[in-house]
Amino acid sequence: MDAAEFRCRGKEMVDYVADYLENIEQRPVSADVEPGYLRSLIPTEAPLEPDNYDDIIKDVERVIMPGITHWHSPYFYAYFAAANSYPAILADMLCGAIGCIGFSWASSPACTELETVMLDWLGKMLKLPDDFIAGTLGHGGGVIQGTASEATLMSLLAARCKALRKIQAANPEILESEIRPKLVAYTSEQAHSSVERASLIGEVTMRMVPTDSTYAVRGSTLKKMLEEDKAAGLIPFFFCATLGTTGSCAFDHITELGPLCNKENVWMHIDAAYAGSAFICPEFRPLLNGIEFADSFNFNPHKWLLVNFDCSTMW
Ligand code: PLP
Repeated sequence: MDAAEFRCRGKEMVDYVADYLENIEQRPVSADVEPGYLRSLIPTEAPLEPDNYDDIIKDVERVIMPGITHWHSPYFYAYFAAANSYPAILADMLCGAIGCIGFSWASSPACTELETVMLDWLGKMLKLPDDFIAGTLGHGGGVIQGTASEATLMSLLAARCKALRKIQAANPEILESEIRPKLVAYTSEQAHSSVERASLIGEVTMRMVPTDSTYAVRGSTLKKMLEEDKAAGLIPFFFCATLGTTGSCAFDHITELGPLCNKENVWMHIDAAYAGSAFICPEFRPLLNGIEFADSFNFNPHKWLLVNFDCSTMW
C-alpha cells in the first residue's frame, strides 16, 4: 500500500468506524458463536499470495464481527463500562503513525514529558496529595500502565523489593530465600482476581481479609490479622485496598487502614480500577479521603474517561 492508496483506504476506514459506532445498537451485543468458530472460516495456512484489500475488509464482517462482543453498544450491561471516543480513536491513529517507543526520555522526549504532565493534570483533578504530583522538580508523578492488573503487580513487586532491602540492611547475613517465605500480603476477600494473581506471580503468600456487612475491609480486621501473623514470625509487607470493588462497588475504609499500614511498614496500594474516575466529581471525592496514607494508587481512564483501552494510570 502506497501513500495514495493509504489516503483513500484511510478515509474508507474512518467511514466504516463511524458507521459501526452510529449503528452499533443494531448488532447483537454478544457473539452467537461456539468456541473455535473462527478457525473454520479462514485457511489453516498463511496465504502464499497476497489477498486484495477489498477481500480483507469483507472478512471483517464475515469473520471478525460475528465473534465480537460489542462493549460500546447501549445494550451492553456486562462487566463494566469500557470507554472510547472519536478523539481517542484519532489519537490512536496518530500514535500508530509515529510508532513511538518511549522506554526512556531520550527514546522520544515528548512521549515521556506528555505522559508526566498529563498524569499531573489528572492527579490534580483527583486532588491527589502533592507528594503524588511530579511538578517541575520530578518528585512523585504517575505513569501509564496497560491495565490495573499490571499496576497491582508493579506495586506488589515494589513493596516486596522495599521490604527485602529493609530487612537485609538490618540483617545482612539473612538470605533473600529465607525472608521470602515469611512475607505476607493482604487484600479484601472482595478484591478483583488480579490482586490474588499478583501474589502468585510475585511468589508471596496472600491472605484474604474478611469484610463487614457493606463488603468493605475495616482497620480492626486487618489489625487482628497483622498481629496474628507477626506473632507467628511472619512479615506483613503489602495491603491492596479496593475503592469500588468489582462485585458491588464497596469502598474499603482507607482512613482506618492507611494509618495502620503506615505504622506497620505495610505498603498500601489502592486499586480504584473502575470507580476511580468518579473522584473527579467533588461530590464523590470524599470517597478518596485517606489517599494521603497510600504508597501507590491506580485507576483506569479506559473505563469512564472516554479513552480507548489500554490506559491505566498509576501514581
Ligand atoms: N480491579 C478492579 C476493582 C476492577 O473492577 C477491575 C476490572 O474491572 C480490575 C481490577 C482489573 O482491571 P484491568 O482489566 O485493567 O486489569
